[in-house]
Amino acid sequence: MSAPLLVVSGPSGVGKSTVVAEALRADPRLWLSVSATTRSPRPGETDGKHYFFVTDEQFDRMIDAGELLEWAVYAGHRYGTPGADVARQRSAGRPVILEIEVQGARQVREAVPDAVLVFIEPPSMDVLEDRLTARGTESDQVRARRLEVARRELAEADLFDHRVVNDDVATCARSLLALVDSPSP
Ligand code: 5GP
Repeated sequence: MSAPLLVVSGPSGVGKSTVVAEALRADPRLWLSVSATTRSPRPGETDGKHYFFVTDEQFDRMIDAGELLEWAVYAGHRYGTPGADVARQRSAGRPVILEIEVQGARQVREAVPDAVLVFIEPPSMDVLEDRLTARGTESDQVRARRLEVARRELAEADLFDHRVVNDDVATCARSLLALVDSPSP
Protein backbone atom coordinates (compact mmCIF):
# COMPACT_ATOMS: atom_id res chain seq x y z
CA MET A 1 0.00 0.00 0.00
CA SER A 2 1.30 3.47 -0.86
CA ALA A 3 2.04 6.06 1.77
CA PRO A 4 -0.54 8.90 2.02
CA LEU A 5 -0.72 11.77 -0.44
CA LEU A 6 -1.71 14.98 1.29
CA VAL A 7 -2.76 17.90 -0.90
CA VAL A 8 -2.47 21.18 0.95
CA SER A 9 -4.25 24.09 -0.65
CA GLY A 10 -5.56 27.49 0.30
CA PRO A 11 -5.32 31.10 -0.82
CA SER A 12 -2.04 32.84 -1.48
CA GLY A 13 -0.81 34.50 1.72
CA VAL A 14 -2.64 32.11 4.05
CA GLY A 15 0.69 30.76 5.27
CA LYS A 16 0.62 27.35 3.53
CA SER A 17 4.40 27.29 3.02
CA THR A 18 5.11 28.16 6.65
CA VAL A 19 2.73 25.51 7.91
CA VAL A 20 4.11 22.88 5.53
CA ALA A 21 7.71 23.80 6.48
CA GLU A 22 6.81 23.34 10.15
CA ALA A 23 5.22 19.94 9.41
CA LEU A 24 8.34 18.84 7.46
CA ARG A 25 10.58 19.95 10.30
CA ALA A 26 8.51 18.03 12.82
CA ASP A 27 8.29 14.82 10.75
CA PRO A 28 11.29 13.95 8.56
CA ARG A 29 9.37 11.06 6.94
CA LEU A 30 7.42 13.59 4.83
CA TRP A 31 8.46 14.41 1.28
CA LEU A 32 7.47 17.74 -0.26
CA SER A 33 6.96 17.66 -4.01
CA VAL A 34 8.86 20.31 -6.01
CA SER A 35 6.65 21.87 -8.68
CA ALA A 36 7.55 23.22 -12.08
CA THR A 37 6.57 26.83 -12.79
CA THR A 38 6.91 29.37 -15.57
CA ARG A 39 7.08 32.30 -13.13
CA SER A 40 10.43 33.92 -12.34
CA PRO A 41 12.25 33.13 -9.10
CA ARG A 42 11.70 35.53 -6.19
CA PRO A 43 14.78 36.67 -4.29
CA GLY A 44 16.06 33.76 -2.22
CA GLU A 45 14.37 31.06 -4.29
CA THR A 46 16.57 28.30 -5.71
CA ASP A 47 15.93 26.24 -8.85
CA GLY A 48 15.27 22.61 -7.99
CA LYS A 49 14.56 23.39 -4.34
CA HIS A 50 11.63 25.79 -4.21
CA TYR A 51 10.54 25.15 -7.80
CA PHE A 52 11.86 23.93 -11.11
CA PHE A 53 11.84 27.26 -12.96
CA VAL A 54 11.10 26.46 -16.58
CA THR A 55 10.29 28.26 -19.82
CA ASP A 56 6.87 28.08 -21.50
CA GLU A 57 8.35 25.70 -24.05
CA GLN A 58 9.71 23.39 -21.37
CA PHE A 59 6.35 23.44 -19.60
CA ASP A 60 4.58 22.56 -22.87
CA ARG A 61 6.94 19.63 -23.30
CA MET A 62 6.20 18.36 -19.77
CA ILE A 63 2.46 18.48 -20.51
CA ASP A 64 2.87 16.73 -23.87
CA ALA A 65 5.03 14.00 -22.33
CA GLY A 66 2.34 13.38 -19.68
CA GLU A 67 4.82 14.16 -16.91
CA LEU A 68 2.50 16.33 -14.83
CA LEU A 69 0.09 14.85 -12.32
CA GLU A 70 -1.80 18.15 -12.45
CA TRP A 71 -1.19 21.68 -13.62
CA ALA A 72 -2.93 25.04 -13.53
CA VAL A 73 -2.59 28.66 -14.50
CA TYR A 74 -2.33 30.92 -11.49
CA ALA A 75 -2.08 34.72 -11.73
CA GLY A 76 -0.72 34.52 -15.26
CA HIS A 77 1.81 31.71 -14.78
CA ARG A 78 1.67 27.94 -15.05
CA TYR A 79 2.44 25.60 -12.17
CA GLY A 80 2.48 21.80 -12.21
CA THR A 81 3.39 18.71 -10.19
CA PRO A 82 5.83 16.22 -11.76
CA GLY A 83 4.03 12.91 -11.21
CA ALA A 84 6.83 10.32 -11.28
CA ASP A 85 8.55 11.42 -8.09
CA VAL A 86 5.27 11.54 -6.20
CA ALA A 87 4.50 7.93 -7.14
CA ARG A 88 8.07 6.81 -6.38
CA GLN A 89 8.15 8.38 -2.94
CA ARG A 90 4.73 7.01 -2.01
CA SER A 91 5.74 3.49 -3.07
CA ALA A 92 8.89 3.84 -1.00
CA GLY A 93 6.68 4.51 2.03
CA ARG A 94 7.18 8.26 2.35
CA PRO A 95 4.05 10.35 2.86
CA VAL A 96 3.98 13.05 0.15
CA ILE A 97 2.77 16.63 0.49
CA LEU A 98 1.69 18.75 -2.46
CA GLU A 99 1.33 22.44 -1.78
CA ILE A 100 -0.78 23.59 -4.70
CA GLU A 101 -3.70 25.84 -5.62
CA VAL A 102 -7.34 24.80 -5.86
CA GLN A 103 -7.68 23.91 -9.58
CA GLY A 104 -4.73 21.54 -9.19
CA ALA A 105 -6.24 20.00 -6.06
CA ARG A 106 -9.39 19.28 -8.06
CA GLN A 107 -7.34 17.41 -10.70
CA VAL A 108 -5.54 15.37 -8.05
CA ARG A 109 -8.94 14.46 -6.60
CA GLU A 110 -9.80 12.88 -9.99
CA ALA A 111 -6.40 11.31 -10.70
CA VAL A 112 -5.63 9.96 -7.23
CA PRO A 113 -8.83 8.92 -5.47
CA ASP A 114 -7.11 8.15 -2.16
CA ALA A 115 -5.48 11.61 -1.92
CA VAL A 116 -6.43 13.57 1.18
CA LEU A 117 -7.32 17.19 0.41
CA VAL A 118 -6.73 19.79 3.09
CA PHE A 119 -7.79 23.41 2.75
CA ILE A 120 -5.98 25.95 4.92
CA GLU A 121 -8.15 28.95 5.68
CA PRO A 122 -7.18 32.39 6.96
CA PRO A 123 -8.85 33.49 10.19
CA SER A 124 -10.45 36.25 8.04
CA MET A 125 -10.07 38.04 4.70
CA ASP A 126 -8.61 41.09 6.51
CA VAL A 127 -5.87 38.94 8.04
CA LEU A 128 -5.08 37.51 4.61
CA GLU A 129 -4.76 40.98 3.09
CA ASP A 130 -2.47 42.10 5.92
CA ARG A 131 -0.24 39.05 5.43
CA LEU A 132 0.09 39.59 1.70
CA THR A 133 0.98 43.24 2.30
CA ALA A 134 3.51 42.39 5.02
CA ARG A 135 5.25 39.89 2.74
CA GLY A 136 6.13 42.84 0.51
CA THR A 137 7.28 40.65 -2.36
CA GLU A 138 4.54 41.67 -4.77
CA SER A 139 3.57 44.91 -6.44
CA ASP A 140 0.12 46.40 -5.62
CA GLN A 141 -1.19 45.10 -8.90
CA VAL A 142 0.02 41.53 -8.35
CA ARG A 143 -1.29 41.59 -4.77
CA ALA A 144 -4.72 42.78 -5.91
CA ARG A 145 -4.82 39.94 -8.45
CA ARG A 146 -3.86 37.38 -5.81
CA LEU A 147 -6.53 38.69 -3.42
CA GLU A 148 -9.13 38.36 -6.15
CA VAL A 149 -8.05 34.75 -6.75
CA ALA A 150 -8.07 34.14 -2.97
CA ARG A 151 -11.73 35.25 -2.75
CA ARG A 152 -12.66 32.76 -5.45
CA GLU A 153 -10.59 30.01 -3.81
CA LEU A 154 -12.28 30.50 -0.45
CA ALA A 155 -15.59 29.87 -2.16
CA GLU A 156 -14.33 26.45 -3.29
CA ALA A 157 -13.31 25.08 0.08
CA ASP A 158 -16.17 22.55 -0.01
CA LEU A 159 -14.21 20.33 -2.38
CA PHE A 160 -11.79 19.48 0.42
CA ASP A 161 -11.88 16.60 2.88
CA HIS A 162 -10.59 18.75 5.72
CA ARG A 163 -10.47 22.48 6.49
CA VAL A 164 -7.96 23.88 8.94
CA VAL A 165 -7.88 27.53 10.09
CA ASN A 166 -4.34 28.90 10.26
CA ASP A 167 -4.48 31.09 13.33
CA ASP A 168 -1.40 29.41 14.76
CA VAL A 169 1.32 27.77 12.64
CA ALA A 170 2.32 25.03 15.10
CA THR A 171 -1.29 23.99 15.74
CA CYS A 172 -2.08 23.99 12.05
CA ALA A 173 1.05 21.88 11.29
CA ARG A 174 0.03 19.42 14.02
CA SER A 175 -3.37 19.05 12.36
CA LEU A 176 -1.63 18.16 9.08
CA LEU A 177 0.57 15.59 10.79
CA ALA A 178 -2.47 14.00 12.41
CA LEU A 179 -3.93 13.55 8.92
CA VAL A 180 -0.73 11.87 7.69
CA ASP A 181 -1.10 9.32 10.45
CA SER A 182 -4.79 8.72 9.91
CA PRO A 183 -5.50 9.89 6.37
CA SER A 184 -9.07 8.68 5.76
CA PRO A 185 -11.40 11.63 5.28
P1 5GP B 1 3.68 31.24 -5.65
O1 5GP B 1 3.87 31.97 -6.95
O2 5GP B 1 3.22 32.16 -4.55
O3 5GP B 1 4.88 30.41 -5.26
O4 5GP B 1 2.50 30.18 -5.88
C1 5GP B 1 1.26 30.60 -6.37
C2 5GP B 1 0.24 29.51 -6.16
O5 5GP B 1 0.57 28.37 -6.95
C3 5GP B 1 0.20 29.02 -4.71
O6 5GP B 1 -1.17 28.90 -4.34
C4 5GP B 1 0.89 27.68 -4.78
O7 5GP B 1 0.40 26.78 -3.79
C5 5GP B 1 0.45 27.21 -6.15
N1 5GP B 1 1.29 26.14 -6.70
C6 5GP B 1 2.60 25.89 -6.47
N2 5GP B 1 2.99 24.79 -7.14
C7 5GP B 1 1.90 24.32 -7.78
C8 5GP B 1 1.65 23.18 -8.62
O8 5GP B 1 2.51 22.36 -8.92
N3 5GP B 1 0.40 23.04 -9.10
C9 5GP B 1 -0.62 23.89 -8.80
N4 5GP B 1 -1.81 23.63 -9.31
N5 5GP B 1 -0.42 24.96 -8.02
C10 5GP B 1 0.81 25.17 -7.51
